[in-house]
Amino acid sequence: MNNNNHNYLLSDLSKLKGVGKKIENLLKKKGINNIFDLLWKLPKSYTDRSFTSKIKDLKISDTQTVSVTPYKYSFPRIRNLPNKVLCKDETGDLECVFFNSYEGYIKKILPIGKLVTISGKVSHFRNKYQITNPKYVSENEELIKSKHNEYSLTEGITQNIYNKIINQILANLPNLNEWHSANICKLFKNISWNNAIIELHKPENIGKYSSDFYKRLVFDEIFSSFLVNSEIRKKIKKIKKQKKIFNLKGQNKIISKLEFKLTNDQTKALIEINKDLNSPNKMFRLLQGDVGSGKTIVSLLAALNCINSGFQVAFMAPTEILARQHYNLAKNLFSKNISLDLLSSKSENKIKKETLKRLIDNKIDLVFGTHAIFQTKVKFKKLGLVIIDEQHKFGVNQRKKLSDKGGDNCDVLLMSATPIPRTLTMTIYGDMDLSIIREKPKSRKPVITYSKLDSKLDDVLKFIKKEIKNDNQVFWVCPLIEESKKIDHASAVAKYNFLSKIFPNQVALLHGKTDIDEKELILNKFLNKEYKILVSTTVIEVGIDFPNANVIVIENSNKFGISQLHQLRGRVGRGHKQSTCILMFKSNLSENAKKRINILKNSYDGFEISEEDMKLRGYGDILGFKQSGIKTFKLADPIHNSDLFKIAEKEIKRIENDNEDISNFKPLLKLYDRADIINDIA
Ligand code: ADP
Ligand code: MG
Repeated sequence: MNNNNHNYLLSDLSKLKGVGKKIENLLKKKGINNIFDLLWKLPKSYTDRSFTSKIKDLKISDTQTVSVTPYKYSFPRIRNLPNKVLCKDETGDLECVFFNSYEGYIKKILPIGKLVTISGKVSHFRNKYQITNPKYVSENEELIKSKHNEYSLTEGITQNIYNKIINQILANLPNLNEWHSANICKLFKNISWNNAIIELHKPENIGKYSSDFYKRLVFDEIFSSFLVNSEIRKKIKKIKKQKKIFNLKGQNKIISKLEFKLTNDQTKALIEINKDLNSPNKMFRLLQGDVGSGKTIVSLLAALNCINSGFQVAFMAPTEILARQHYNLAKNLFSKNISLDLLSSKSENKIKKETLKRLIDNKIDLVFGTHAIFQTKVKFKKLGLVIIDEQHKFGVNQRKKLSDKGGDNCDVLLMSATPIPRTLTMTIYGDMDLSIIREKPKSRKPVITYSKLDSKLDDVLKFIKKEIKNDNQVFWVCPLIEESKKIDHASAVAKYNFLSKIFPNQVALLHGKTDIDEKELILNKFLNKEYKILVSTTVIEVGIDFPNANVIVIENSNKFGISQLHQLRGRVGRGHKQSTCILMFKSNLSENAKKRINILKNSYDGFEISEEDMKLRGYGDILGFKQSGIKTFKLADPIHNSDLFKIAEKEIKRIENDNEDISNFKPLLKLYDRADIINDIA
């Protein structure tokens, strides 16, 4: 393997001939930061300029190629009059017309008496064949007589420049040893990575998504992302820890006191977690389950077991309110011998000092809080487990940091209420072990979902009046207007004023600017049924549990993806009552919108909905994915390439089981810019 070459591929754009600071900056603006990124700048179409004709046979309005001899310049030097060059072959004359071009340039590309090849769109004007502002001109016929790729242009960069720099890269591809096993290579007819890249850029191969070269490159991309995750998982699992030894008495006592029976999936997840706690290797596990599937109780039981083995537990929630809710739940569930605390950020300086001392003295068994828990000044005596609720906003790197935080003896349990399509599981969560709760508590009735035009607001209000009379409560989610938080805010205030007139003293308002104390006050009053309607922007807390609320109205529903709507809808339907979700729309639904709504009306399974969502919107847009910092694929498509995702997963498992040395794959990881993650965890 030629190492210099290898570096060349990843290196600075400025290494390329013809790329100066200006073009480099233009490319960088488009997210093309190095030579490797340019490999995925693919032609959109091409123009075949390989056929030449004589001047007399030129066809008007077609793009054609002709070899001619310039014989006369005309440079009028009057504004707005074009410069012209008369050229000829043995059959006639062709005039090249230049607007905004300098004489010097024209003389250089079209020297009198030299044979030049020109390609361009031909017109006919005052009895003469003309080509205006020809861009493809050269004394070297071969340079013009070929297929010319056309790229979607970056402002300031011409087709010519793209053709030149990309050809330059393709001519200098490094010679890399094959990294895949023979079986995998066979799947793609043994085409090498280099040749695949070269094929990828051939204009006649545009759109050949099922050819071997394309599939190989897709596979490489998927595989490299899986491999990094697998390496992280392996590394974490190698970390030795002090086993947690506990009996299940405490856990079972609480289970027997619950007013419900755990679902099979909850029980299974708990067993998996307990097994990890018992093991001498560090746990790094994700508990994935739809909204309302009952993850909290599972995590609290695991926390209890950990405490009973003599360790402390930290429970991190995304918001204060949620942290407090979990804290209150634990207070109700656990016996008095378990010492609990809440580390809230508003108590930053006062209580915290005491709490901090109690934590380091091992006087607190279980502490709840937001990310404030992970400040460096928060120290534990014997931290054995970190639980992180609603973690879908974290990317792999952040998760890695979290797992390091508590030290080697500290197990990590992450929880996410964002079901994702099966094909993406390895991509997004492949660095963790997974427990999945698919089954909903039996008592749950699916939320009835309606769609309503804004013009039917009166019907909606009538419905709400009836629900409130029956002692029910309502969430009213105001339109999300991403461009402006101010407008979000204003629209929520306006809706609050509007509803307050109809339901005096029964409406509360929450928005992004409500301060934390007030927020808590409002939510508590809502929980105590002092308010009947809670108007809010989408900031209302994820995961918060209001069993008495059974109606949710979502305005401007088309602004949300269906997974998001499903999440919002999950705020209701937690109690025993029949719940309703009303999706409001400003105007008649498009066909696509109707499809989305039907999926929601017909399914109440977040996993299923996420699959459908991906089919409709593509994987890049599904909930939380874009913000998660996870790299999006350049070629791979989880829908069309689902077979390759499966093969990659199998191959990764094989490599794991065979305990195969992965040094072969180093160039692959380096190419795909994933090597740094591996190094990070070394
Ligand atoms: P999530 O998985 O979204 O975090 P929660 O843990 O908040 O869900 O649970 C939602 C509600 O369901 C809570 O009120 C909880 O007490 C209740 N719950 C949990 N498990 C069960 C079960 N097996 N049967 C009935 N209700 C349950
Ligand atoms: Mg939750």
